[in-house]
Amino acid sequence: MSDNSLNNLAKRISDVHRRIYHAAMRAGRSPETVRLVAVTKHFPVSVVSEAVELGLRVFGESYVGEAASKRETIIRGNPSSSVSWHLIGHLQRNKVKKAVATFDCIHSIDSAALAGEVDAHAARAGKIQDILIQVKLSEEDTKAGIEEDRVFALAERITSSHKNLNLIGLMAMPPFFEDPELSRPFFRRLKDIRDDLAKSGIALAELSMGMSNDFETAVGEGATMVRVGSEIFGER
Ligand SMILES: *Cc1c(COP(=O)(O)O)cnc(C)c1O
Repeated sequence: MSDNSLNNLAKRISDVHRRIYHAAMRAGRSPETVRLVAVTKHFPVSVVSEAVELGLRVFGESYVGEAASKRETIIRGNPSSSVSWHLIGHLQRNKVKKAVATFDCIHSIDSAALAGEVDAHAARAGKIQDILIQVKLSEEDTKAGIEEDRVFALAERITSSHKNLNLIGLMAMPPFFEDPELSRPFFRRLKDIRDDLAKSGIALAELSMGMSNDFETAVGEGATMVRVGSEIFGER
């Protein structure tokens, strides 16, 4: 990357951090409770490397193979930096082993069968795998995630019988709206589901919600992880 585009990237990163900061303050939240997951899917590893140089440490990827190869390159080039990798895309059953080897956190657990598979591979790898349950909040059937009314049963099963899974929160991806205000009810809904789980004895700290178009709205509704790609790295 040229100095010019590096400066550009630095500016975009600090803009997003500043916007998260202000959105948190407006909501009466402490800005440190919001983590930026920088989404680098489809961007070359050179871009990830620049972002690491500029201080980003948490990356979101949608594809297991792509993430695994980027991760190896980053580890080779920056052995001392502690970068973490989050899977935000759908996880296929035949990719679970590699996903467990690659990701610090998996946001897209949406069935008991998948949870069981991840638990088994984590046990074999001697790892406690951080996960989130992805919730389907809209009737658009193209959206992944488990139906709302099945979240409790899945959460209960994970916390009671999967020793190698650490369930830390819920993730959702509402339909895309031009106007971020239209995403608000979906974010509020995910938070309500989280609060209901807490009342039933399953306390989860994390809400992964909000993307480039609506992350400030998500922060306003309680997001603890925002997944931002294009607003930092440009259009894919
Ligand atoms: C690509 C992607 C993002 C980031 O989207 P942008 O609009 O580029 O910020 C966030 N979450 C998921 C699940 C994604 O697939």
